[in-house]
Order: sequence, then C-alpha cells, then structure tokens
Amino acid sequence: MARYRGPACKLCRREGMKLFLKGERCLTEKCAIERRSYPPGEHGRGRIKQSEYLLQLREKQKARRYYGLLEKQFRTYYEKAAKQRAGVTGDNLLRMLESRIDNVVYRLGFAASRAQARQLVRHGHFLVNGRRVNIPSYQVRPNDVISLKQGSPAEQVVRDATDLTASVAPWLQADHDGLTGKILKWPERAEIDTPVQESLIVELYSK
Ligand code: SF4
Repeated sequence: MARYRGPACKLCRREGMKLFLKGERCLTEKCAIERRSYPPGEHGRGRIKQSEYLLQLREKQKARRYYGLLEKQFRTYYEKAAKQRAGVTGDNLLRMLESRIDNVVYRLGFAASRAQARQLVRHGHFLVNGRRVNIPSYQVRPNDVISLKQGSPAEQVVRDATDLTASVAPWLQADHDGLTGKILKWPERAEIDTPVQESLIVELYSK
C-alpha cells in the first residue's frame, strides 16, 4: 500500500499542532512546531479565510495524518463506521482506527512513532495470540495478546521505545519487561486522546 513519504514535520505545521510523527525528536526542542509554528509554504504566515468546509477538511486531514493513512484508506474506515448499526459514527471511526495493530503497538509503547510501529509490524516482529501478523491494518480485539517475536532482532529498538513511554492507554495493558501487551476492552471515546473533533469529519463525508 502506498503511503506519504514527504517531510513529516510539514504535516504537523500544516495542522498547527504536534502529531508526534517522528518519535523521540517530537519530544525535544528540535520539533518544528516548537521552532516554526506557522503553516509551511510561501503564504504560510498569511491570513486564511476560515469556512465551515475548511474546518471540516482540516479536521479530517489531521486525523488521517495522525494515523498515517491515505485518503482512500481513511474514507473506507469512515464508510465502515457509518454502516455499523450500533454506536455513533464518529466514535466507531476512532475505535476502528485505534484498533489497528500498528496503532496498538505504538500505544503500548513498543514503537517511538506509528510509522516505526507500522514498519515493525510489516517486518513480522509482532505476534497476536502467538501468531505472526504482518499487516499494519489488522484489527485487534479485546483479550488479544500482542508480543514481540522470540529472538526478534528488533528487541533493542522496541526496548528503547518503551523508555520514551510515560503511560499506556487505559484500555491496554503493557508489560515492558516481557514486551507483551493485552487489549483489555474496546476503547471509549474519553480514553482516546486523538486531538480531533470527529463530528466535523462525519459532517464532511456525509455531505
Ligand atoms: Fe511533528 Fe514530531 Fe516533527 Fe514536531 S518533530 S513537527 S511533533 S513530526
């Protein structure tokens, strides 16, 4: 699957906030948002006329970039969320995005960024319930157990990432010594710290 390969910091500057796309650098003063918190480009510091559409668009782009997805992938998640009979579309959308294994590996603290988590998963370093999973979009479920493959050459990278992790989401349980994690339950909206207003995304797509 194709993915964005341009400068990550530019995406944060466009959205005007830290999206934590580069791991350890995001926690230092080298972060581009700390140094140049205005949008990129020649007209970055000019005035932009705000409209309802622009607000909705920016919110969608922010969420898409936060989870590292392309437009088509993101839209497919929205369509699946909208078709679910139970729950609110925005909550369903975020729950599905959070349940991707690359996001869960990152949230457990086993990777410094979602991009790194995606690469670790793609290279087959993680197991779900003892079985190798190398598809970053794989959806985990409550009671699934994630573990680093025995003898994985990525162990030091994963241990280094755990050192950067101050806390783990309440719907997850992580063992940073044993490098295993468990999904305790589906995440509630209040337990997802993604800085987006999902209702604006729903408004945009449901036009
Ligand atoms: Fe975003 Fe991280 Fe770059 Fe800062 S260092 S602008 S948080 S990707």
